Amino acid sequence: MKSLIVEKDLLKHNIRQIKKIAEETGRCADNKPLKIIAVVKGNGYGLGLIEYSKFLIENGINILAVSTTEEAIELRKAGIQKNILMLSATNIKREIELLIENDITLTIDSKEQIQLIEEEAERQNKNVKAHIKIDTGFGRYGFLYSNKEEIVDALKDLKNIKIEGTFSHFSIAFYEKNKFTEEQFTRFIDVVEFLKENKIETGILHICNSSGFLRYKSMRLSAARIGSAFLGRIAIPNIYGLKKVAYLKSNVAEIKKIPKGYNIGYSNSYTTKKDMIVAQVPCGYADGFNVKVDKDMFRPIDKLRYIVRDTKNFFKNEGIYVEINGEKCKVLGRLGMYHVTVDITGKNVKINDEVKLEVNPMYVDSKIRREYR
Ligand SMILES: *Cc1c(COP(=O)(O)O)cnc(C)c1O
Repeated sequence: MKSLIVEKDLLKHNIRQIKKIAEETGRCADNKPLKIIAVVKGNGYGLGLIEYSKFLIENGINILAVSTTEEAIELRKAGIQKNILMLSATNIKREIELLIENDITLTIDSKEQIQLIEEEAERQNKNVKAHIKIDTGFGRYGFLYSNKEEIVDALKDLKNIKIEGTFSHFSIAFYEKNKFTEEQFTRFIDVVEFLKENKIETGILHICNSSGFLRYKSMRLSAARIGSAFLGRIAIPNIYGLKKVAYLKSNVAEIKKIPKGYNIGYSNSYTTKKDMIVAQVPCGYADGFNVKVDKDMFRPIDKLRYIVRDTKNFFKNEGIYVEINGEKCKVLGRLGMYHVTVDITGKNVKINDEVKLEVNPMYVDSKIRREYR
């Protein structure tokens, strides 16, 4: 049976590595060490929301962040008591109600939304923790950075809301020495200073995601929101010694002999050139195998590089591989939705031997078991 194997040693290594880089920042403006906020959205980037969050906590992480109300509640239901920051601002009453009930730290970004939160906090007789979100050029959540007076006006008479942080989000921090990233940072600091001048509490300040944190040391402020770096899957060159922490595991389900000149797979795109021994592995693209990474995050020049690489590979007939007993085995024919046929001619492979498949955990169906080993 298949499962997503998370290699604990490697994950620990990445956590340690990130902490080490954070420590190298030195003291922040508030004279405290840089805080790490672990982003566990999207089923913990595929590592399993609960298992992954618990693992992070065991390894010294104290603040978690999610993107949806469902994720926040699931964490609480699993007994996790750490601070949980809901990164998306919501105006939906039912969600605000649930978030407050579960003591989730809210993101606030408009006067109207603050009003809704105040009313609900009043009704539940609770104090609500919140981070202020400033939109410095992403066009998603947040007060527009240019509306400074409006921001102060919305925040000046909070009753049941306690500000514990102020943040913004970079759109393009995976580019090196980027003007827009610097511009976003300046816009953010401008707003923060204006808030301070107007006696608005700002709490901890954070703007960096993984790329921002790794690339822009001077922008780390008092906290960084780290997601992809924990998985060693960053959108910038990995010069930080981060490791890929997970792979898909399956087992050889069948072995058979196939004669020379025989078709394998859909669309008859592969014909055996000799007698072969093949193994069937019950895993395919529906499990996330060989699903290409999203290329949105790369510059046109990088995209061009990918096209050149893919074309070269095509002509070299590089193909796709899996690993059985530590040996690379070539996938034959088209990849199936739930099956791959691999060449094991001349190899010592038996039924039920473990097969290792390279995947981005994010694309692995959440129904597939996560196994930490
Ligand atoms: C996803 C997300 C992050 C983490 O981004 P990574 O690049 O994976 O580190 C940080 N902040 C916000 C607001 C996010 O949505």
